[in-house]
Amino acid sequence: SSVSVAAAPMLTKLQQDCATPLPVLRNVAASMSDDIRAGLAVDGGSDLKMILSYVDSLPTGDEKGLFYALDLGGTNFRVLRVELGGKDKRVIAIESDQVSIPQELMSATSEELFDFIASALANFAHKGGNFSGNKGEIGFTFSFPVKQTSIDSGILIKWTKGFAVSGTAGKDVVACLNEAMDRKGIDMRVSALVNDTVATLAGARYWDDDVMVAVILGTGTNACYVERMDCIPKLQGEFSPSRRTIVNLEWGAFSKGLPLTVFDRDMDAASINPGEQIFEKTISGMYLGEIARRALLHMAEEGSLFGKSVPEKLSMPFVLGTPDLSTMQQDSTEDLHTVGSVLYNVAGVESNLISRKIVLEVCDTIVKRAARLAGAGIVGILQKIEEDTKDAIFGKRTVVAMDGGLYERYPQYRRYLKEAVAELLGPETSQNIVIEHSKDGSGIGAALLAATNSKYG
Ligand code: ADP
Repeated sequence: SSVSVAAAPMLTKLQQDCATPLPVLRNVAASMSDDIRAGLAVDGGSDLKMILSYVDSLPTGDEKGLFYALDLGGTNFRVLRVELGGKDKRVIAIESDQVSIPQELMSATSEELFDFIASALANFAHKGGNFSGNKGEIGFTFSFPVKQTSIDSGILIKWTKGFAVSGTAGKDVVACLNEAMDRKGIDMRVSALVNDTVATLAGARYWDDDVMVAVILGTGTNACYVERMDCIPKLQGEFSPSRRTIVNLEWGAFSKGLPLTVFDRDMDAASINPGEQIFEKTISGMYLGEIARRALLHMAEEGSLFGKSVPEKLSMPFVLGTPDLSTMQQDSTEDLHTVGSVLYNVAGVESNLISRKIVLEVCDTIVKRAARLAGAGIVGILQKIEEDTKDAIFGKRTVVAMDGGLYERYPQYRRYLKEAVAELLGPETSQNIVIEHSKDGSGIGAALLAATNSKYG
Protein backbone atom coordinates (compact mmCIF):
# COMPACT_ATOMS: atom_id res chain seq x y z
CA SER A 1 0.00 0.00 0.00
CA SER A 2 1.03 3.64 -0.47
CA VAL A 3 1.12 4.01 3.31
CA SER A 4 3.98 1.63 3.89
CA VAL A 5 5.84 2.73 0.77
CA ALA A 6 6.05 6.35 1.93
CA ALA A 7 6.82 5.68 5.60
CA ALA A 8 9.17 2.71 5.15
CA PRO A 9 12.33 4.71 4.29
CA MET A 10 11.63 6.99 7.25
CA LEU A 11 11.55 3.97 9.53
CA THR A 12 14.83 2.74 8.04
CA LYS A 13 16.40 6.14 8.69
CA LEU A 14 15.19 6.10 12.31
CA GLN A 15 16.62 2.60 12.81
CA GLN A 16 19.98 3.71 11.38
CA ASP A 17 20.11 6.81 13.57
CA CYS A 18 19.25 4.78 16.69
CA ALA A 19 21.51 1.82 15.97
CA THR A 20 23.65 0.62 18.87
CA PRO A 21 26.07 -1.93 17.43
CA LEU A 22 28.84 -3.22 19.68
CA PRO A 23 31.42 -0.51 18.79
CA VAL A 24 28.93 2.22 19.76
CA LEU A 25 28.19 0.47 23.06
CA ARG A 26 31.91 -0.07 23.75
CA ASN A 27 32.55 3.60 23.21
CA VAL A 28 29.71 4.60 25.56
CA ALA A 29 30.95 2.21 28.26
CA ALA A 30 34.52 3.55 27.93
CA SER A 31 33.31 7.17 28.08
CA MET A 32 31.27 6.35 31.18
CA SER A 33 34.42 4.93 32.83
CA ASP A 34 36.43 8.03 31.85
CA ASP A 35 33.73 10.40 33.13
CA ILE A 36 33.55 8.49 36.43
CA ARG A 37 37.32 8.92 36.89
CA ALA A 38 37.25 12.60 35.97
CA GLY A 39 34.34 13.25 38.36
CA LEU A 40 36.14 11.45 41.20
CA ALA A 41 39.26 13.57 40.63
CA VAL A 42 37.74 17.01 41.19
CA ASP A 43 34.28 18.53 41.65
CA GLY A 44 33.09 19.66 38.23
CA GLY A 45 35.62 17.36 36.51
CA SER A 46 33.04 15.81 34.17
CA ASP A 47 29.34 15.53 33.31
CA LEU A 48 29.10 13.14 36.25
CA LYS A 49 28.94 14.86 39.64
CA MET A 50 30.14 11.71 41.48
CA ILE A 51 28.47 12.86 44.71
CA LEU A 52 29.91 11.37 47.90
CA SER A 53 27.10 9.77 49.90
CA TYR A 54 28.95 9.63 53.23
CA VAL A 55 27.60 6.07 53.42
CA ASP A 56 30.79 4.23 54.30
CA SER A 57 29.40 1.40 56.35
CA LEU A 58 27.02 -0.90 54.58
CA PRO A 59 24.36 -3.09 56.18
CA THR A 60 25.76 -6.45 57.32
CA GLY A 61 22.63 -8.27 58.51
CA ASP A 62 23.52 -7.82 62.19
CA GLU A 63 21.33 -4.71 62.60
CA LYS A 64 18.83 -4.93 65.45
CA GLY A 65 15.94 -2.77 66.63
CA LEU A 66 13.12 -0.63 65.35
CA PHE A 67 13.90 1.87 62.58
CA TYR A 68 11.99 4.22 60.32
CA ALA A 69 12.33 5.30 56.72
CA LEU A 70 10.86 8.40 55.17
CA ASP A 71 10.89 8.74 51.40
CA LEU A 72 10.19 12.10 49.80
CA GLY A 73 10.71 12.24 46.07
CA GLY A 74 7.51 13.30 44.41
CA THR A 75 3.87 14.00 45.07
CA ASN A 76 3.65 11.09 47.50
CA PHE A 77 5.78 10.33 50.45
CA ARG A 78 6.19 6.97 52.05
CA VAL A 79 6.81 6.10 55.67
CA LEU A 80 8.04 2.72 56.74
CA ARG A 81 8.85 1.03 60.03
CA VAL A 82 10.94 -2.09 60.24
CA GLU A 83 11.89 -4.29 63.16
CA LEU A 84 15.26 -5.90 62.60
CA GLY A 85 16.24 -9.06 64.44
CA GLY A 86 19.89 -9.53 63.48
CA LYS A 87 21.64 -12.21 61.43
CA ASP A 88 19.20 -15.10 61.76
CA LYS A 89 15.89 -13.36 62.30
CA ARG A 90 16.50 -10.54 59.81
CA VAL A 91 13.25 -8.61 59.20
CA ILE A 92 10.82 -9.45 62.00
CA ALA A 93 8.10 -7.01 61.00
CA ILE A 94 7.60 -4.30 58.44
CA GLU A 95 4.80 -1.78 57.99
CA SER A 96 4.46 1.09 55.57
CA ASP A 97 2.08 3.83 54.60
CA GLN A 98 1.79 6.29 51.75
CA VAL A 99 0.63 9.87 52.17
CA SER A 100 -0.07 12.19 49.28
CA ILE A 101 1.11 15.76 49.58
CA PRO A 102 -1.71 18.29 49.19
CA GLN A 103 -1.22 20.46 46.11
CA GLU A 104 -1.18 23.70 48.14
CA LEU A 105 1.75 22.46 50.26
CA MET A 106 3.91 22.11 47.15
CA SER A 107 4.02 25.92 46.98
CA ALA A 108 3.78 26.62 50.70
CA THR A 109 6.55 27.66 53.10
CA SER A 110 9.27 25.28 54.18
CA GLU A 111 7.89 25.19 57.75
CA GLU A 112 4.41 24.25 56.51
CA LEU A 113 5.70 21.41 54.35
CA PHE A 114 7.98 19.93 57.02
CA ASP A 115 5.31 20.33 59.73
CA PHE A 116 2.96 18.29 57.54
CA ILE A 117 5.59 15.59 57.03
CA ALA A 118 6.45 15.49 60.75
CA SER A 119 2.77 15.13 61.68
CA ALA A 120 2.20 12.33 59.20
CA LEU A 121 5.27 10.56 60.53
CA ALA A 122 4.04 10.93 64.12
CA ASN A 123 0.60 9.55 63.19
CA PHE A 124 2.22 6.56 61.58
CA ALA A 125 4.61 5.98 64.48
CA HIS A 126 1.86 5.98 67.06
CA LYS A 127 -0.81 3.97 65.30
CA GLY A 128 -0.86 0.19 65.68
CA GLY A 129 2.27 -1.91 66.13
CA ASN A 130 4.07 -2.42 69.39
CA PHE A 131 6.03 0.74 69.84
CA SER A 132 9.08 -0.49 71.67
CA GLY A 133 10.05 2.78 73.30
CA ASN A 134 13.48 3.43 71.82
CA LYS A 135 13.81 6.79 70.19
CA GLY A 136 12.72 6.70 66.60
CA GLU A 137 15.62 6.87 64.21
CA ILE A 138 14.89 7.75 60.63
CA GLY A 139 16.59 7.08 57.31
CA PHE A 140 15.49 9.97 55.12
CA THR A 141 15.43 9.33 51.38
CA PHE A 142 15.24 12.71 49.73
CA SER A 143 15.26 12.66 45.94
CA PHE A 144 16.00 16.27 45.09
CA PRO A 145 19.40 17.83 44.35
CA VAL A 146 21.27 18.07 47.63
CA LYS A 147 24.82 19.05 48.50
CA GLN A 148 25.52 16.40 51.09
CA THR A 149 27.69 17.63 53.96
CA SER A 150 27.69 14.53 56.22
CA ILE A 151 25.68 11.33 56.56
CA ASP A 152 22.99 13.30 58.38
CA SER A 153 23.01 16.70 56.75
CA GLY A 154 22.64 18.14 53.27
CA ILE A 155 21.83 21.49 51.73
CA LEU A 156 18.94 21.66 49.26
CA ILE A 157 20.23 23.13 46.01
CA LYS A 158 16.78 23.60 44.48
CA TRP A 159 13.36 21.99 44.44
CA THR A 160 12.40 20.12 41.25
CA LYS A 161 9.45 18.02 40.02
CA GLY A 162 6.80 20.69 40.55
CA PHE A 163 7.79 21.68 44.09
CA ALA A 164 8.02 25.43 44.67
CA VAL A 165 8.35 25.51 48.46
CA SER A 166 9.80 28.79 49.72
CA GLY A 167 12.64 29.04 52.19
CA THR A 168 14.23 25.57 51.89
CA ALA A 169 16.82 26.16 49.17
CA GLY A 170 20.23 26.73 50.76
CA LYS A 171 19.14 25.07 54.02
CA ASP A 172 19.94 21.71 55.57
CA VAL A 173 16.86 19.56 54.90
CA VAL A 174 17.63 17.33 57.90
CA ALA A 175 17.62 20.36 60.20
CA CYS A 176 14.31 21.44 58.61
CA LEU A 177 12.74 18.08 59.46
CA ASN A 178 14.31 17.85 62.94
CA GLU A 179 13.06 21.36 63.76
CA ALA A 180 9.54 20.44 62.61
CA MET A 181 9.64 17.36 64.87
CA ASP A 182 10.75 19.58 67.77
CA ARG A 183 7.86 21.98 67.12
CA LYS A 184 5.47 19.03 67.26
CA GLY A 185 7.13 17.46 70.30
CA ILE A 186 8.08 14.28 68.43
CA ASP A 187 11.00 12.32 69.85
CA MET A 188 12.49 11.16 66.55
CA ARG A 189 15.72 12.00 64.74
CA VAL A 190 17.15 11.65 61.24
CA SER A 191 20.31 9.50 61.38
CA ALA A 192 20.91 9.17 57.64
CA LEU A 193 20.08 11.35 54.65
CA VAL A 194 20.31 9.40 51.42
CA ASN A 195 19.55 9.49 47.75
CA ASP A 196 17.11 6.83 46.47
CA THR A 197 19.78 5.01 44.46
CA VAL A 198 22.01 4.77 47.53
CA ALA A 199 19.08 3.45 49.59
CA THR A 200 18.41 0.82 46.92
CA LEU A 201 22.03 -0.34 47.04
CA ALA A 202 21.93 -0.57 50.85
CA GLY A 203 18.61 -2.46 50.77
CA ALA A 204 19.89 -5.00 48.25
CA ARG A 205 23.22 -5.40 50.05
CA TYR A 206 21.40 -6.41 53.25
CA TRP A 207 20.35 -9.63 51.54
CA ASP A 208 23.34 -10.13 49.30
CA ASP A 209 26.99 -9.24 50.03
CA ASP A 210 27.87 -9.30 46.34
CA VAL A 211 25.83 -6.18 45.46
CA MET A 212 28.23 -3.50 44.16
CA VAL A 213 26.06 -1.30 41.93
CA ALA A 214 22.48 0.00 42.03
CA VAL A 215 20.57 1.50 39.11
CA ILE A 216 17.15 3.15 39.06
CA LEU A 217 15.18 3.23 35.82
CA GLY A 218 11.86 4.95 36.47
CA THR A 219 10.57 8.36 35.46
CA GLY A 220 14.19 9.47 35.67
CA THR A 221 17.37 7.45 36.06
CA ASN A 222 20.45 7.30 38.26
CA ALA A 223 23.16 4.91 39.47
CA CYS A 224 25.58 4.47 42.36
CA TYR A 225 28.28 1.96 43.34
CA VAL A 226 30.69 0.98 46.09
CA GLU A 227 34.07 2.68 45.55
CA ARG A 228 37.43 2.39 47.26
CA MET A 229 38.30 5.62 49.04
CA ASP A 230 41.87 5.56 47.72
CA CYS A 231 40.35 5.81 44.22
CA ILE A 232 38.67 9.13 45.08
CA PRO A 233 41.28 11.91 44.77
CA LYS A 234 38.76 14.60 45.74
CA LEU A 235 38.47 13.01 49.20
CA GLN A 236 42.03 14.23 49.77
CA GLY A 237 43.02 11.29 51.89
CA GLU A 238 40.23 11.40 54.45
CA PHE A 239 39.38 7.73 54.82
CA SER A 240 36.92 5.95 57.08
CA PRO A 241 37.85 2.61 58.68
CA SER A 242 36.03 0.63 55.97
CA ARG A 243 38.01 2.48 53.26
CA ARG A 244 34.96 2.16 51.03
CA THR A 245 32.06 4.46 50.30
CA ILE A 246 29.03 4.69 48.04
CA VAL A 247 29.33 7.24 45.25
CA ASN A 248 26.24 8.60 43.48
CA LEU A 249 26.99 9.18 39.78
CA GLU A 250 23.95 11.36 38.93
CA TRP A 251 24.40 9.59 35.59
CA GLY A 252 21.36 11.21 33.96
CA ALA A 253 23.76 14.05 33.07
CA PHE A 254 26.06 11.78 31.02
CA SER A 255 26.20 12.80 27.34
CA LYS A 256 29.11 11.22 25.42
CA GLY A 257 28.85 9.07 22.31
CA LEU A 258 25.06 8.69 22.34
CA PRO A 259 23.39 8.02 18.98
CA LEU A 260 20.79 10.82 18.88
CA THR A 261 18.15 11.74 16.31
CA VAL A 262 16.46 14.95 15.25
CA PHE A 263 13.56 13.90 17.51
CA ASP A 264 15.84 13.80 20.55
CA ARG A 265 17.31 17.20 19.70
CA ASP A 266 13.88 18.77 19.20
CA MET A 267 12.54 17.26 22.42
CA ASP A 268 15.59 18.54 24.31
CA ALA A 269 15.23 22.03 22.84
CA ALA A 270 11.58 22.14 23.93
CA SER A 271 12.33 20.86 27.45
CA ILE A 272 12.60 22.92 30.64
CA ASN A 273 16.33 22.03 30.85
CA PRO A 274 17.76 22.14 27.29
CA GLY A 275 21.23 20.65 26.98
CA GLU A 276 20.99 18.93 30.37
CA GLN A 277 20.26 15.33 31.41
CA ILE A 278 20.87 13.96 27.90
CA PHE A 279 21.42 10.33 29.01
CA GLU A 280 18.24 10.55 31.10
CA LYS A 281 16.33 11.94 28.12
CA THR A 282 17.50 9.00 25.98
CA ILE A 283 16.94 6.09 28.38
CA SER A 284 14.36 6.93 31.08
CA GLY A 285 10.60 6.47 31.36
CA MET A 286 9.61 10.11 31.23
CA TYR A 287 10.83 10.47 27.65
CA LEU A 288 10.59 7.26 25.60
CA GLY A 289 6.91 7.73 24.73
CA GLU A 290 7.56 11.33 23.72
CA ILE A 291 10.48 10.43 21.42
CA ALA A 292 8.27 7.81 19.74
CA ARG A 293 5.43 10.34 19.40
CA ARG A 294 7.74 12.78 17.64
CA ALA A 295 8.94 10.10 15.23
CA LEU A 296 5.36 8.97 14.52
CA LEU A 297 4.16 12.54 13.99
CA HIS A 298 6.94 13.06 11.45
CA MET A 299 5.96 9.86 9.65
CA ALA A 300 2.31 10.94 9.67
CA GLU A 301 3.13 14.37 8.30
CA GLU A 302 5.77 13.46 5.73
CA GLY A 303 4.95 9.82 5.03
CA SER A 304 1.15 9.63 5.39
CA LEU A 305 1.57 6.93 8.03
CA PHE A 306 -2.06 7.20 9.13
CA GLY A 307 -3.52 8.25 5.77
CA LYS A 308 -3.95 11.69 4.23
CA SER A 309 -4.74 13.64 7.40
CA VAL A 310 -2.56 13.94 10.45
CA PRO A 311 -4.37 13.05 13.71
CA GLU A 312 -4.57 16.25 15.72
CA LYS A 313 -3.85 14.76 19.15
CA LEU A 314 -0.56 13.34 17.89
CA SER A 315 0.77 16.92 17.94
CA MET A 316 0.36 17.17 21.71
CA PRO A 317 3.63 16.77 23.61
CA PHE A 318 3.69 13.76 25.97
CA VAL A 319 0.27 12.33 24.92
CA LEU A 320 2.00 9.02 24.31
CA GLY A 321 3.46 7.61 27.52
CA THR A 322 6.16 5.01 27.96
CA PRO A 323 3.57 2.64 29.55
CA ASP A 324 1.63 2.94 26.23
CA LEU A 325 4.70 1.75 24.31
CA SER A 326 4.98 -1.20 26.67
CA THR A 327 1.28 -2.05 26.36
CA MET A 328 1.54 -2.01 22.56
CA GLN A 329 4.67 -4.16 22.56
CA GLN A 330 2.91 -6.87 24.58
CA ASP A 331 0.24 -7.23 21.85
CA SER A 332 0.19 -10.80 20.53
CA THR A 333 -3.07 -10.62 18.55
CA GLU A 334 -2.87 -11.27 14.82
CA ASP A 335 -4.49 -7.96 13.81
CA LEU A 336 -2.53 -6.03 16.47
CA HIS A 337 -5.80 -5.11 18.10
CA THR A 338 -4.21 -3.67 21.26
CA VAL A 339 -1.87 -1.45 19.25
CA GLY A 340 -4.92 -0.16 17.38
CA SER A 341 -6.88 0.66 20.51
CA VAL A 342 -3.96 2.33 22.30
CA LEU A 343 -3.34 4.51 19.23
CA TYR A 344 -7.02 5.37 19.02
CA ASN A 345 -7.52 5.99 22.75
CA VAL A 346 -4.43 8.08 23.45
CA ALA A 347 -3.92 9.89 20.16
CA GLY A 348 -7.21 9.56 18.26
CA VAL A 349 -5.35 7.67 15.54
CA GLU A 350 -7.17 5.35 13.10
CA SER A 351 -4.73 2.66 12.00
CA ASN A 352 -4.59 -0.43 9.81
CA LEU A 353 -2.39 -3.49 10.16
CA ILE A 354 0.44 -1.99 8.09
CA SER A 355 0.61 1.24 10.07
CA ARG A 356 0.35 -0.70 13.36
CA LYS A 357 3.37 -2.79 12.38
CA ILE A 358 5.35 0.36 11.64
CA VAL A 359 4.30 1.87 14.99
CA LEU A 360 5.57 -1.25 16.75
CA GLU A 361 8.88 -1.00 14.91
CA VAL A 362 9.22 2.62 16.02
CA CYS A 363 8.53 1.68 19.67
CA ASP A 364 11.00 -1.17 19.49
CA THR A 365 13.70 1.05 17.96
CA ILE A 366 13.42 3.70 20.70
CA VAL A 367 13.22 1.16 23.53
CA LYS A 368 16.05 -0.99 22.21
CA ARG A 369 18.38 1.99 21.94
CA ALA A 370 17.45 3.13 25.47
CA ALA A 371 17.92 -0.26 27.10
CA ARG A 372 21.19 -1.05 25.30
CA LEU A 373 22.65 2.34 26.26
CA ALA A 374 21.59 1.78 29.88
CA GLY A 375 23.37 -1.60 29.68
CA ALA A 376 26.50 0.08 28.30
CA GLY A 377 26.39 2.56 31.19
CA ILE A 378 26.30 -0.31 33.68
CA VAL A 379 29.26 -1.99 31.98
CA GLY A 380 31.10 1.36 32.13
CA ILE A 381 30.75 1.34 35.92
CA LEU A 382 31.79 -2.32 36.22
CA GLN A 383 34.83 -1.83 33.97
CA LYS A 384 35.98 1.15 36.02
CA ILE A 385 35.85 -0.94 39.21
CA GLU A 386 37.60 -3.88 37.55
CA GLU A 387 40.38 -1.77 35.99
CA ASP A 388 41.32 -0.25 39.34
CA THR A 389 41.35 -3.54 41.21
CA LYS A 390 42.20 -6.48 39.00
CA ASP A 391 39.76 -9.36 39.55
CA ALA A 392 37.76 -7.25 41.94
CA ILE A 393 34.49 -8.22 40.31
CA PHE A 394 34.72 -9.92 36.90
CA GLY A 395 36.28 -13.09 38.30
CA LYS A 396 33.54 -13.69 40.85
CA ARG A 397 29.81 -13.22 41.38
CA THR A 398 28.86 -9.53 41.30
CA VAL A 399 25.34 -8.15 41.58
CA VAL A 400 23.80 -5.05 40.02
CA ALA A 401 20.57 -4.18 41.88
CA MET A 402 17.91 -2.68 39.61
CA ASP A 403 14.71 -0.85 40.53
CA GLY A 404 12.15 1.55 39.04
CA GLY A 405 8.89 1.28 37.15
CA LEU A 406 10.49 1.23 33.69
CA TYR A 407 12.77 -1.71 34.47
CA GLU A 408 10.08 -3.48 36.44
CA ARG A 409 7.26 -3.15 33.93
CA TYR A 410 8.81 -3.18 30.46
CA PRO A 411 9.88 -6.76 29.61
CA GLN A 412 11.53 -5.81 26.30
CA TYR A 413 13.56 -3.10 28.03
CA ARG A 414 14.86 -5.62 30.57
CA ARG A 415 15.73 -8.13 27.88
CA TYR A 416 17.58 -5.63 25.64
CA LEU A 417 19.51 -4.27 28.62
CA LYS A 418 20.71 -7.72 29.67
CA GLU A 419 21.59 -8.64 26.09
CA ALA A 420 23.78 -5.55 25.72
CA VAL A 421 25.58 -6.27 29.00
CA ALA A 422 26.25 -9.85 27.89
CA GLU A 423 27.50 -8.72 24.45
CA LEU A 424 29.88 -6.24 26.03
CA LEU A 425 31.25 -8.52 28.74
CA GLY A 426 31.49 -11.69 26.67
CA PRO A 427 30.14 -15.13 27.60
CA GLU A 428 32.54 -15.93 30.44
CA THR A 429 32.45 -12.72 32.45
CA SER A 430 28.73 -12.21 31.95
CA GLN A 431 28.13 -15.50 33.79
CA ASN A 432 29.45 -13.75 36.91
CA ILE A 433 27.47 -10.53 36.58
CA VAL A 434 23.96 -10.84 37.99
CA ILE A 435 21.47 -8.14 37.09
CA GLU A 436 18.74 -8.42 39.65
CA HIS A 437 15.50 -6.64 40.37
CA SER A 438 15.53 -5.33 43.94
CA LYS A 439 11.88 -4.58 44.51
CA ASP A 440 11.24 -1.65 46.84
CA GLY A 441 14.68 -2.09 48.34
CA SER A 442 15.01 1.64 48.89
CA GLY A 443 12.54 1.84 51.80
CA ILE A 444 14.18 -0.82 53.87
CA GLY A 445 17.59 0.39 52.64
CA ALA A 446 17.04 3.82 54.18
CA ALA A 447 15.89 2.26 57.49
CA LEU A 448 19.01 0.05 57.45
CA LEU A 449 21.23 3.08 56.95
CA ALA A 450 19.53 4.70 59.95
CA ALA A 451 20.53 1.54 61.86
CA THR A 452 24.14 1.44 60.64
CA ASN A 453 24.49 5.15 61.42
CA SER A 454 22.54 5.03 64.68
CA LYS A 455 23.09 7.94 67.04
CA TYR A 456 22.23 5.82 70.07
CA GLY A 457 24.59 2.95 69.37
P1 ADP B 1 9.46 7.29 39.91
O1 ADP B 1 10.62 7.04 39.03
O2 ADP B 1 8.50 8.28 39.32
O3 ADP B 1 9.81 7.58 41.33
P2 ADP B 1 8.72 4.54 39.40
O4 ADP B 1 10.03 3.92 39.69
O5 ADP B 1 7.51 3.77 39.81
O6 ADP B 1 8.55 5.96 40.02
O7 ADP B 1 8.66 4.75 37.83
C1 ADP B 1 7.52 5.26 37.21
C2 ADP B 1 7.82 5.37 35.73
O8 ADP B 1 7.97 4.05 35.18
C3 ADP B 1 6.75 6.02 34.92
O9 ADP B 1 6.99 7.42 34.83
C4 ADP B 1 6.89 5.36 33.56
O10 ADP B 1 7.81 6.07 32.78
C5 ADP B 1 7.49 4.01 33.86
N1 ADP B 1 6.44 2.99 33.79
C6 ADP B 1 5.41 2.79 34.64
N2 ADP B 1 4.64 1.78 34.23
C7 ADP B 1 5.18 1.31 33.09
C8 ADP B 1 4.84 0.28 32.18
N3 ADP B 1 3.77 -0.49 32.33
N4 ADP B 1 5.66 0.10 31.12
C9 ADP B 1 6.72 0.88 30.93
N5 ADP B 1 7.09 1.86 31.75
C10 ADP B 1 6.33 2.09 32.81
